Amino acid sequence: MTEINGYCLKCKNYVPILNGKKIVMSNGRTRMAGSCSRDGCTGKISKIIA
Ligand SMILES: [Zn+2]
Repeated sequence: MTEINGYCLKCKNYVPILNGKKIVMSNGRTRMAGSCSRDGCTGKISKIIA
């Protein structure tokens, strides 16, 4: 599996996205939505990947 990093707004770190899901938006672009992989952080991460 490809690891995709994203910026967590909660802990303010650039971390791999945990349980990432690809979501195709209405404008045709794809974003990866998941959770922060840092221990103890429950932040959500969303990143446009395509
Ligand atoms: Zn975090």
